[in-house]
Amino acid sequence: MIITKQKDRDKLMECIKKHDKFFLIGCSECATLCGTGSPEALDEMEEFLKGQGKTVTGKLVPKTGCQTLGTKIELKKDKEACDAADAIIVMSCGAGTQSATEIFPDKPVYPANDSLFLGNMTRFQMFDERCSLCGECVIGMTAGICPITNCPKGLLNGPCGGMSDGNCEVSPDIPCAWVRIYERQKRLDNIEEMKETIEAKDWSKGQKPGRLYAKKQKEETKG
Ligand code: SF4
Ligand code: SF4
Repeated sequence: MIITKQKDRDKLMECIKKHDKFFLIGCSECATLCGTGSPEALDEMEEFLKGQGKTVTGKLVPKTGCQTLGTKIELKKDKEACDAADAIIVMSCGAGTQSATEIFPDKPVYPANDSLFLGNMTRFQMFDERCSLCGECVIGMTAGICPITNCPKGLLNGPCGGMSDGNCEVSPDIPCAWVRIYERQKRLDNIEEMKETIEAKDWSKGQKPGRLYAKKQKEETKG
């Protein structure tokens, strides 16, 4: 899931200061789990904006904010409220926000959240980064643990010389990713695999902006 946090309210107010009326859009997927785009978060934002002398013309928490077409269809019932707004405030990830940019070509769109990383909810309301979307996954060679994301240096062959007592030299409060990989390989009786050097990655696989046509890709994968 995409992990988001709400923007600093002063910064948000600075961005939206020239507008008075807003339509709010959340997302019932990741942003709801993060508490940044849920119905409650939108209610709270509405109260905040009202307290700042602004008007909220309407609000919607679409099923999946980053599904542009689906969100556009869901917004049809709110056409009047959207038309009445000077601008759109989106409480989802950056992708959901850009759905709104595409849906509303003639209205300013503002993100209310900062998108932080792709991660997992490891405990209630606790999120940990898991994947850096590198374009070619290597964790089949690293015991299912991503070194690109979990090692601050992104080392494909580790640990580095700074590892100390199993902890990372860059962030001593976290375990060294490569120690974790070693421990898991040992547990899986795969320790021999660690003797193989992982070749340099082809970073062009993760070139931006990414685009995937899933149907075509499926056909190519089948060969
Ligand atoms: S190797 Fe790449 S795709 Fe796989 S988890 Fe790590 S960053 Fe994500
Ligand atoms: S100590 Fe481990 S996790 Fe930290 S930078 Fe070195 S190899 Fe990466």
